[in-house]
Amino acid sequence: MSDCIFCKIINKEIPSEIVYEDELIMAFNDIEAKAPVHILIIPKKHISSLNKMEDEDGELISHIFKIISEIVKEKGIKESGYRVVNNCGENGGQTVDHLHFHVLGGRNLTWPPG
Ligand code: 5GP
Ligand code: ZN
Repeated sequence: MSDCIFCKIINKEIPSEIVYEDELIMAFNDIEAKAPVHILIIPKKHISSLNKMEDEDGELISHIFKIISEIVKEKGIKESGYRVVNNCGENGGQTVDHLHFHVLGGRNLTWPPG
């Protein structure tokens, strides 16, 4: 998707602080961090939201969560705790239409979110 900012990040047309990358997914620091650790994990395939996930994407999503478990270990927040968030659609607060999971940690996260 030529006008998608996350596709541009994947293509390195927009710079980002890359935390992890392989042939399927990418993880990078959120530009407006809401916690000491705030990383976005995205598939390289353009999927506009969780609503557009297809059966064939199951392995991709499980890969994303496997890598999240490695990232939280590396960032030192595995034991203290963290939150994995997907904002979907207007009421969910989604602002970028390329599927992404937020990983937040490094502070006490309140509940419920706003
Ligand atoms: P959403 O609101 O869709 O759940 O999350 C989108 C996230 O992308 C926001 O937390 C926002 O700060 C982040 N973001 C938007 N544009 C950029 C960018 O150009 N670079 C990076 N690293 N993060 C971005
Ligand atoms: Zn995209």
